[in-house]
Parts: sequence; structure tokens; C-alpha cells
Amino acid sequence: MTDLRELYQELILDHNKRPRNRRKLESANRQCDGYNPLCGDRVTIFVKVKDDVVEDVSFEGSGCAISTASASLMTESIKGKSLAEAKAVFERFHNMVTSEESAKSPESSLGKLQVFSGVVRYPARVKCATLAWHTFNAALASKIETVSTE
Ligand code: ZN
Repeated sequence: MTDLRELYQELILDHNKRPRNRRKLESANRQCDGYNPLCGDRVTIFVKVKDDVVEDVSFEGSGCAISTASASLMTESIKGKSLAEAKAVFERFHNMVTSEESAKSPESSLGKLQVFSGVVRYPARVKCATLAWHTFNAALASKIETVSTE
């Protein structure tokens, strides 16, 4: 458990306790459900896209602290971004949690998302941290089926 402590940093605990943008977005024009069977995390991502910009984004669902905090921080960091920028953030985030090299010196442009760099050492947690992102990506593609991280 001591090793896990570094994963559960204050920012993650705070976003798990008080998730930002956790609500149904009535004006959403993109939506997708995601499921991580390894951990049991479930998430629904709502996106309102206008003129290729993420005008608003929210989520609903329940899961472990990592998945909830990740969804919360994701909505904060991509709201207002262009679709291209949001996808670029996803790629940098994905790199950081899957590559030891990237995790060592996360891109400063990731801002608060850098708090997830410790996840790279817990492969089972990578899916918790990326579930909301994969689901967001699928929502943009207007897929309506449930996304599984498997
Ligand atoms: Zn999880």
C-alpha cells in the first residue's frame, strides 16, 4: 500500500471527492459510454462540439478514484479546446501513462494532468486513467456502442 500512496496524490483525491463537471449535459451532441472490466469503472462522456471546438464536456459514472479523477481533470483540461488540440492532449497524456520515458519528464503543457505520471508503474491502473479519454475519443467519432478498454 505504501507504493500506491504516491498514486493517490492530493489533486487526485480532491477530484475524486468533488468531481468537476459530473452531470448530464443536456446540450451534448456527442455521447459515449465506456467500461473498464478490469476494475469495473463505468463512465459516460457528454460533449458539445461547435465549430470544431469542445464547447462543453461533462461525465457521469462511477469507478475507482483514478478513473473518476481522470474524467474530472480531463473535462477541465479540454473544455474550450479545438478538437485537434484535445486529441493532442490525449496523445500526450496517453504517452505519459504508458511510457516510462515520457512519465519521467511529462510535458509541461499537460498542466495538472501531470499528476497521473505515477500511473505508468501500475499497468492495471493505466486503463482506469485512460478510460475517460478513450471514451471521449469514441464520443467524437459519434460511436454509440459501449467502449471497452479490453
Ligand atoms: Zn479503476
